[in-house]
Amino acid sequence: VMMHQPRIVVIGAGMAGLGAATKLKELGFTELTVVEASGQAGGRIAKTNIGNAWVDSGAQYIHGASAENPVYCLFKKYSLLNQVPEEGKSTFHRNNEHKVNEDFAERVYAAGERIIRHRGSSTEKSIGEHFAEEAHAVAESWQDDEKDVQSILALVGKDLLVDTGASDLHKISLASWQYYINMGDDLNVEGYVVQQQPDLPKERLLLNKAVGKIEWDGSFSDMEGRGYPVRVVCEDGEEILADHAILTISLGCLKARAATFFSPSLSSEKMEVIEKLCFGNIAKIFLEYEQAFWASDVRSISLIWDNDNVASISTSRAEWLRYLQLFTVMRPKEKFGNILIAWCPGDVADLVETMREEELSSAITEHLRLFTRNPTIPPPRTVLCTQWCSNSFIRGSYTFIPVGIDGKVMDILAQPLVGTKNPSKALQVLFAGEATMKTLYSTVQGALMSGHREAERLARQYDRTAPPAGHCDTVKKDLGVCHVPQ
Ligand SMILES: Cc1cc2nc3c(=O)[nH]c(=O)nc-3n(C[C@H](O)[C@H](O)[C@H](O)COP(=O)(O)OP(=O)(O)OC[C@H]3O[C@@H](n4cnc5c(N)ncnc54)[C@H](O)[C@@H]3O)c2cc1C
Repeated sequence: VMMHQPRIVVIGAGMAGLGAATKLKELGFTELTVVEASGQAGGRIAKTNIGNAWVDSGAQYIHGASAENPVYCLFKKYSLLNQVPEEGKSTFHRNNEHKVNEDFAERVYAAGERIIRHRGSSTEKSIGEHFAEEAHAVAESWQDDEKDVQSILALVGKDLLVDTGASDLHKISLASWQYYINMGDDLNVEGYVVQQQPDLPKERLLLNKAVGKIEWDGSFSDMEGRGYPVRVVCEDGEEILADHAILTISLGCLKARAATFFSPSLSSEKMEVIEKLCFGNIAKIFLEYEQAFWASDVRSISLIWDNDNVASISTSRAEWLRYLQLFTVMRPKEKFGNILIAWCPGDVADLVETMREEELSSAITEHLRLFTRNPTIPPPRTVLCTQWCSNSFIRGSYTFIPVGIDGKVMDILAQPLVGTKNPSKALQVLFAGEATMKTLYSTVQGALMSGHREAERLARQYDRTAPPAGHCDTVKKDLGVCHVPQ
């Protein structure tokens, strides 16, 4: 009897899919196909051209600069760790006649961060509720103008909306990070512009090929009469037969299509998790200027709104500019030129994605002139807004955990679909992706490690053991990451 290599189809070539494929190859699996709906690999790691520079439209920071973090290790291995100098200044402006005392603002901001970074374990309470209580107490205790303190603290809350992609702090569970692994400080690198090229000789990476359906627990035969339990049906009509499929599409995509994507259907337990977990959105508006109107040592510009209220940090489309409070400077200048990023959360992100560039340009210019009291700020030469929500193969930014839900449900999402007919091919559809990692969701390393996890799960079924991984020194083979020439 000829022993066949199992055929494995990986769906999605984001970090999770590429991580799974690379690990499978390391484990000796050779019959691999990666199917990707869009025209390139990378998923939510993507670059776009603005001015003379490449910028990250997706992931930008390394969340955790330590050997524990496989993404940090990849950067290190390929000598891409050109860290951005941290000594840059945060600056603050406000929309009334008073100037901001920057030291004071920094101190209040830091106090706000201490409150909001609190990691509760009560799934019944929201970050918004917790923040409102504690921030009020802090504001009252401050000797200076309580109202000023409130509006600076509100900045902290608004910035957390950007971090989570949510529209309302009252929607996010206070226990969001109860299982989280802290891998260390964030690292702002000169660009996440690495390009994933799965270097898998015998395998194929099929681009521009969207999967429309997965049929499993079946019995499908190819031309040679070999039988497979899984049939992956692409939207162009092509059918790919496989022993196993690893699905890595985003939670947003699962929400949109899980009801019709699987045959047999998903369990109601799994469907409920897909429904209940939230998929947020953020937008980055890149603003490229002829000349910088900020000082060369500035790394961020924050806008403080009078009358912002710590008790209700919740976006409103009608007042979308109120949620454009944070601008970061792309550094170093020699590499990027004069580019600011305006960050928008939740449904404000959904909104700005649909606005015309001229509309954004004039509204933001007026906004900046008002706050900086500098009527000579020119409009940006180029405006470019990311479109993660409108991208039908992504549909948002990343996962967050709503009030009332325990992060453990991500384990349910990660459970494979097990076939009933053939014990040796029992693991049929496996789930990876950022949303399946309660310890690291919403990050690049979470996606990567989820791919590794599923590859290893399959390997165990075939009694293959995985080489040790994770630490910078022990990473032997990994993604074929190569630097994009600038
Ligand atoms: C704006 C933004 C900023 C971010 N910043 C950071 C950061 O600074 N640091 C950080 O660690 N993380 C950041 N993240 C999060 C990080 O990018 C993601 O967690 C991670 O890249 C997700 O990888 P993934 O493989 O799980 O999913 P994805 O990257 O979404 O990959 C899934 C792939 O599946 C494909 N696909 C979808 N549907 C189909 C289909 N039907 N058939 C075939 N293929 C399909 C998609 O095209 C995609 O390529 C950011 C994300 C965004 C959007």
